[in-house]
Amino acid sequence: MLPANKNSVTKRLDAAAFTCAQTGKKFTALRRAVFGLILEARTPVTAYELLDRLRVSHKGATPATVYRALEFLLDNDLVHKVESLSAFIPCADAGQHDHAAQFFICRHCGKVAEIEDEAVVEALGHAAAKLGFRAGNIIVEAEGLCADCLASAR
Ligand SMILES: [Zn+2]
Ligand SMILES: [Zn+2]
Repeated sequence: MLPANKNSVTKRLDAAAFTCAQTGKKFTALRRAVFGLILEARTPVTAYELLDRLRVSHKGATPATVYRALEFLLDNDLVHKVESLSAFIPCADAGQHDHAAQFFICRHCGKVAEIEDEAVVEALGHAAAKLGFRAGNIIVEAEGLCADCLASAR
């Protein structure tokens, strides 16, 4: 995940607005607000945490408001859902890719690192094919300790 300083958050928001404008998609104030909250969080945030935080600026926000905004952000590869946590993180690639990502989730600090390794996806695809199974959505999430937490534990 990216460091959550104000400048980088604003940059990511502006970049998303620019990309959406170029492709004719509406990056509404609400979508921007929800994406901003995900960018500001240092760890994955759940839909309900987002709703709580969103209500500070958008009093009338409902769960449906948040889910619709999340759907847009997911569809446009701006954020990812960490399935094992049911929580959301910004895409490390700034939505520059259309890929199956793999995630490393630190159980100590809660940070999530995202990688894109084609070999992992291929290996799983081959393993599935051997079973006659056609894999659709391949989700790879590893839980453990990040390098920082390991270093400070020493
Ligand atoms: Zn990504
Ligand atoms: Zn950690």
